[in-house]
Amino acid sequence: MLYIKRVTILLAGFLAAIKPVLCQDINPDNIKMTIEYLASDKLQGRATSSPGEMLAAEYIANHFRQYNLEPKGDSAGSYFFHFQCKYNPDKTDTIPEHTTERRGVDVAGYIDNGAPYTIVAGAHLDHLGLGYDGNSLDPNPKGKIHPGADDNASGVAGVLELARYFSANRKGQKYNFLFICFSGEELGLFGSKKYCEKPTIDLSKADIMINMDMIGRLNDSTKRLLVYGVGTAPPLVRIIDSIPTVFSIKKDSAGIGPSDQTSFYLKNIPVLFFFTGEHADYHKPSDIASKINYTGEQEVLEYVISVINSIEKMG
Ligand SMILES: [Zn+2]
Repeated sequence: MLYIKRVTILLAGFLAAIKPVLCQDINPDNIKMTIEYLASDKLQGRATSSPGEMLAAEYIANHFRQYNLEPKGDSAGSYFFHFQCKYNPDKTDTIPEHTTERRGVDVAGYIDNGAPYTIVAGAHLDHLGLGYDGNSLDPNPKGKIHPGADDNASGVAGVLELARYFSANRKGQKYNFLFICFSGEELGLFGSKKYCEKPTIDLSKADIMINMDMIGRLNDSTKRLLVYGVGTAPPLVRIIDSIPTVFSIKKDSAGIGPSDQTSFYLKNIPVLFFFTGEHADYHKPSDIASKINYTGEQEVLEYVISVINSIEKMG
């Protein structure tokens, strides 16, 4: 998630003791495998423009291919959407890739169900790398790997599980799906902004954008889940209120927030943003895979599927 000073997030909520609607197909082992790989030392914190980020992009593209998603990158047959962005580097940063214009890569795959409208589901794949970009909260971040297990390997794992789920359950779907992972988020939402400027699908047919950023730290006692964007389309509050859930849902109406849903909302597309909340490891080297609540993330994704299926019932 993009670090914005003075953003305060109210964490109040209430526990709704209602029976959950479960779909058994989300697999916590898949979530674990993805997060452990993306947050491993090999990927060096997935800084935009770094070799570690490219490894993350290839991992995502390989899964999209495995799930038979149609490539929706910037050239025929490619899942990769390349872009460049300017980011003022730290003057003491001597890493060559950081001293010039950054080159990011989004990864996009599509499920065509022959429907008139599309649901976009996204998450950012980049993180803070080795702490040179001025957005770490570690007092001495430079040279330290920032694994970003929750921020946002957890969201990418969510996109991959939803892609697998909806590619395996195509019958009766009333929407097409665009699954997309963004680069450049931590530097200023660049990947989503660039995609919205030059989209590879018709965004006027996008009914809603669902963003997942930091969904891996569900607290099993409070079950607090933050859902932003409920004010961006009239039926969303009713949908969220009508779904039976174990979660204590904290709703926020805003379409503009510190992650990639903002870019879509600014293109007049309704958005929902799912988030399990801030924690002491946010933007620090201690945001590691062993602190992720994998079955908690499974529950979040099952809930997201319930929301998507409810949206379809409106159509
Ligand atoms: Zn972040």
